[in-house]
Amino acid sequence: MASRRRGATTRRAARRTMWSVMGFTHATSGTAAWLATTAALPALGTGILPLTPAGVLAGAMVAAGAALLPDADHSSATIAHSVPVLGRVVTDAIGDVSGGHRHGAHSLLATGLVTAGAVALGGWRAELPVVGDAPVGPAIATVALITFAVKARDLVRHWRTAWALGLLAAVLVLVYASDTSVWFPLAVGVGYAAHLVGDALTVGGIPGLLWPLRLRPPAWWRGTNVLNDVWKPNGYIALPLLGNAGSVREYVLAIALGLYCAYGLGEVALRAAGSVLASGLP
Ligand SMILES: [Zn+2]
Repeated sequence: MASRRRGATTRRAARRTMWSVMGFTHATSGTAAWLATTAALPALGTGILPLTPAGVLAGAMVAAGAALLPDADHSSATIAHSVPVLGRVVTDAIGDVSGGHRHGAHSLLATGLVTAGAVALGGWRAELPVVGDAPVGPAIATVALITFAVKARDLVRHWRTAWALGLLAAVLVLVYASDTSVWFPLAVGVGYAAHLVGDALTVGGIPGLLWPLRLRPPAWWRGTNVLNDVWKPNGYIALPLLGNAGSVREYVLAIALGLYCAYGLGEVALRAAGSVLASGLP
């Protein structure tokens, strides 16, 4: 009896560790993808950038949080523990609507819907007492996203500390990066997509890109093991370079992404400090 209980506890602990590792990698991959995007966009001649350093830094935080969103379909995911009881209820509901973990919330359709929602939120502004005209929608979304991101990275022990940091980030957005119409939806879309890429690199894979249509491979395809790992008999697709979730390879990738983020964020922060100093000169 006691050993069965111990077994269950160990399994629970292992599951928790796996999810926190995945949360860490996802959050880091969101920020890394965002930094790479903002660095590359001016060269692509899109005309919508360069963003201000404040926009890049705010987007980095938002992208980290958005990269955790697809796992809101899983009740043991970071996001489920954000608000006692309610977090669990919401994740269960999202899991039900999207067909369970790694289904609809891990599809192009969901990426499009979430990004469209972020475009709408990005334009939601209101007149606030002290700051005046302010991006209320992005500020509210930032509170939630940063809170999840901070907790997923295990940067803080208590949820209330995570919420406090989320509020602080939202204030920074309101004051310093208030031109949200471009960077906010872009950061949400890039972060969300980075999560799907990350999951596609694990053995489990993601639903075919056309979900809710699920295309299954033809019979001749299923005869080969390697092909089956890439386009699975159940219609899922994967490029399982990382092996199973929580593998050593995933740790290595998470560290590499973390170093890239530190470099990218440091560079932008220096630019921000430089422009503040320059504007202070006569
Ligand atoms: Zn996922």
